[in-house]
Amino acid sequence: MASQAYDSDPLVLLKALLSTIEEDIIPLTSKGVSSGNKLFGAAILSKAGLDPQTVSTNNETASPLLHGEINCIQQFFAQTSFPDPSLHRGEGKPPPLSQQQQQRPNPRDCVFLATHEPCSLCLSGITWSGFDNFFYLFTYEDSRDLFSIPYDIEILQEVFRVPAATASRSSSSPLSTNAGSEKQIGGALDEDLEARPLYNRRNKFFTARSFEDLAREVGDRYGEEEEKRWKDEIARVKARYKGLSDTYQKTKTDAAVESASFWK
Ligand SMILES: [Zn+2]
Repeated sequence: MASQAYDSDPLVLLKALLSTIEEDIIPLTSKGVSSGNKLFGAAILSKAGLDPQTVSTNNETASPLLHGEINCIQQFFAQTSFPDPSLHRGEGKPPPLSQQQQQRPNPRDCVFLATHEPCSLCLSGITWSGFDNFFYLFTYEDSRDLFSIPYDIEILQEVFRVPAATASRSSSSPLSTNAGSEKQIGGALDEDLEARPLYNRRNKFFTARSFEDLAREVGDRYGEEEEKRWKDEIARVKARYKGLSDTYQKTKTDAAVESASFWK
């Protein structure tokens, strides 16, 4: 029943996700980047009311593992009160703390929102925590090209993507695992590898969709004009991250800002 409400109308869902980013995540991320943290944020919403249960931002100045998503999951499981999932967010604010007496919802009854497509650590964190979906505003390519953060792609490629030819050779010859050997040995097979997605967006554990995917679904249901309108709206919210990125890039080169993160 819960999942019906969240997935019954792509427009309602997209609207709720965008407003959660603007009203709940960005204010936290603004503070985070000012103290030297990356601009990745996350929120967990109830499927029933699409209201945020937990909102977090990256805190890698404390630990390199405290990505926005992991921080959010940790907080979700540490939190002792939650908004009533039956209360719709509507146009107003989430219910006041005095009304937040509910038990933690089952992750299966929640929508997971990540501002940026989750890295390998966070993909695993979301999976291990039992969320069966996530939605993201920026893609890996955006993180690399707009925010100068290429590690989501690089870690998935370098750590997890095993070229078939190299894998079979390396079992008989340890030398073939040397750096640089992969392209020569893989040959044509490696070209296929380059074209393959870095992870399964639909799998046994979760379904991942971008905001662009949702805008296309809005178009399928409400027509091209609505799709265009919501793509513009996505672009407007994305543009708000430009200033946050500039702040982060400035603080990371500032020697006075201590960060536990190795990959800056
Ligand atoms: Zn991550």
